[in-house]
Amino acid sequence: MARKKTALVCGAGGFIGGHLVKRLKAEGYWVRGVDIKRHEFAPTAADDFVKGDLREQSVCRRITRDIKFDELYQLAADMGGAGYIFTGEHDANVMHNSATINLNMLEQARLTGIGKVFYSSSACIYPEEAQTTTRNAGLKEAAAYPAHPDSEYGWEKLFSERLYHAYMRNYGMEVHVARFHNIFGPEGTWEGGREKAPAAMCRKVAETPEGASIEIWGDGKQTRTFLYVDECLEGVLRMMRSKCPGPLNIGSDELISINDLARMVMKIAGKKLAIKHIPGPLGVRGRCSDNTLIKKELGWRPTTRLVDGMTVTYRWIAEQVAKRRKCACACGGR
Ligand code: NAD
Repeated sequence: MARKKTALVCGAGGFIGGHLVKRLKAEGYWVRGVDIKRHEFAPTAADDFVKGDLREQSVCRRITRDIKFDELYQLAADMGGAGYIFTGEHDANVMHNSATINLNMLEQARLTGIGKVFYSSSACIYPEEAQTTTRNAGLKEAAAYPAHPDSEYGWEKLFSERLYHAYMRNYGMEVHVARFHNIFGPEGTWEGGREKAPAAMCRKVAETPEGASIEIWGDGKQTRTFLYVDECLEGVLRMMRSKCPGPLNIGSDELISINDLARMVMKIAGKKLAIKHIPGPLGVRGRCSDNTLIKKELGWRPTTRLVDGMTVTYRWIAEQVAKRRKCACACGGR
């Protein structure tokens, strides 16, 4: 019988990592997941789950000591939506924590001879100047330089992209780097300050009674693209099975304003709500993935419609809101 392929997923207690573990299991892998916390919304599908802090070299050694992994997926990062990344309050932590994780894990992958390494970078590496209008024509991978990301989160990702590619050049490692553009779906953070726009919008609409209003940061005309998590994973696995080291965009090119995203969620929910614009952290004015390169390199690009992914996501978040309400009632507001 053929030996099962083995994968180490760092960040397995998080949103994309949790989904990735499920997908790898469905494809027949033996999977070890690692995270500083357990997954909040679903039991892990991993064969083995290690709760550990990847900033500690001893943890990175421990998780790679007993098995020679075929594949490493490094998704662990100190991360969140605009309310976490763009306030400036978390900059030092974001840079220190994520860079330390990447330095530790990549070195450990080299020392233990892990066959292939995937690293999740972000659309946040693109220069602020290329994203000043709502009608963003699409960010090509080469537009990353001259570099000027609008957040320290983006600078750390850019540094780490370069780190992974330096290991590839100097140590002959097989490395694949993708830049994710706003990934969303069920089983992701939906409250607490680290949630991103699609989840925040679903929560607000689910929580708000008919006829009342929801709040949106800025004028709501800022534009983004959002990619459903299953499509993201399809891109990751196709990239890992290709010769392409990247960086490659993994994102949608279906551009939408935040106001229209809110209207889309209202329509899915069958609710009419007013929109109240308030000051808040915004990020760039417009951001869109250019998918020419991924199509060329992988012969594939994401095609799921935003409304289809948002429908699944809204249903899941509405269930979480209902559960929380039920729990608050049962606890008598305690
Ligand atoms: P997430 O926050 O749900 O997952 C990241 C996980 O890393 C969390 O579970 C967290 O506990 C873990 N982690 C943080 N510090 C750790 C530490 N010291 N030791 C061990 N684990 C630690 O985020 P996600 O949305 O699943 O993102 C996964 C990856 O994709 C991240 O690298 C992120 O930067 C990147 N990315 C995500 C998006 C997106 O839209 N979700 C966009 C661009 C890039």
